Amino acid sequence: MQELLWLLLPVAAASGWWGAMRSVRKPLPAPPDKQNPAYFHGLNHLLNEEPDKAIDIFVEMLEVDSETVETHLALGNLFRQRGEVERAIRIHQNLIARPTLSNEQHAQALLELGQDYLRAGLYDRAEKLFQELKEKRLHTAQVLQHLTTIYQQEKEWQACLQTAEALEKHSQQDLSLEKSHYYCELAMQAKAAEQYTKARHDLKAALATNPACVRANHLMARLAWDKGDIPTAMQLLRDILDHNVHYLPEIIREMIAGHQKLGTLQDLRALLGQITGQHPKSGAELYVAELIQLEEGNQPAAHYLTRYIRNTPSLLGLRQLVELECLNHGQHHLLCDVLNHLNKILQKHSNYQCQKCGFQASTLHWQCPSCHRWSTIQQQPPLENL
Ligand SMILES: [Zn+2]
Repeated sequence: MQELLWLLLPVAAASGWWGAMRSVRKPLPAPPDKQNPAYFHGLNHLLNEEPDKAIDIFVEMLEVDSETVETHLALGNLFRQRGEVERAIRIHQNLIARPTLSNEQHAQALLELGQDYLRAGLYDRAEKLFQELKEKRLHTAQVLQHLTTIYQQEKEWQACLQTAEALEKHSQQDLSLEKSHYYCELAMQAKAAEQYTKARHDLKAALATNPACVRANHLMARLAWDKGDIPTAMQLLRDILDHNVHYLPEIIREMIAGHQKLGTLQDLRALLGQITGQHPKSGAELYVAELIQLEEGNQPAAHYLTRYIRNTPSLLGLRQLVELECLNHGQHHLLCDVLNHLNKILQKHSNYQCQKCGFQASTLHWQCPSCHRWSTIQQQPPLENL
């Protein structure tokens, strides 16, 4: 990229002159003034391997006129992409201050400056510029997307919803998945403020927007649990598995606890059996072993796991078996050392991965921290993973 700038800057400094040279109807302007001390100053910095100073001088030399606006915009863009946001801001602020820009050029420069501020984390300034463009109905789709980014960063979920709706209207995009997460975020804020009626209302809105929203069902189940309505909570958790069996590891602890309270662990065992039949790689059998341990004790669970591992070699299954054997033989048995080693090996594995950008994580994120998409991070099926 640095090399590209070396090529671009001297060319850009001369571009107004060459552009004008091509137009026979315009009077010829003077060529770039090679006697200009700043030009030699810039070259001097280049020769002294001081590229930053040289860039600044060449940029200042590049006059703003109708021929060079695009070059300024391209340079500002390049600097932003290189992470040199201060330089990008200077170039775009310099452009906006020129009264000779056309309305379209002014709007483009505002859009670029807004993105510079966004990149620099100056959200208030970026929002102000994007709002100005939104009101003027200029670059609407891009502006709405940038506003969404700002509101997500600031956790202003109601504003996210309104912006998503405006974007849907403007560009006919389907943002029901994103909207369902905004409602879930609002519900979580309401729950934290002990506004349970509002939380339920937000979750219903999430499900009305996106009936397959696993997160909304899970939050609904937790609200039902907190109210003491465990049968409803268990039904809601079952509904989740109808939509997304990958979510089983996230809810299995609550399912075991709920069915234990209700005395219906056999129902859960039957459900896990069905899941194993339909999704052999879901790892549901590992949870069956846990239920056997709870209902029948360590020894039958160990027998079950031994048979299971024989047919389906799995580190997770092996860890569970060794754990059981440790319980049977006491803390100082050799197997406990093996268990510690297995735990260390398994801790190194990232269980969660974004299906879009490949970002790996050790816990579930609803929004990928890397590509910022929603619902793209999934737990790897245990048997495919380990
Ligand atoms: Zn991602």
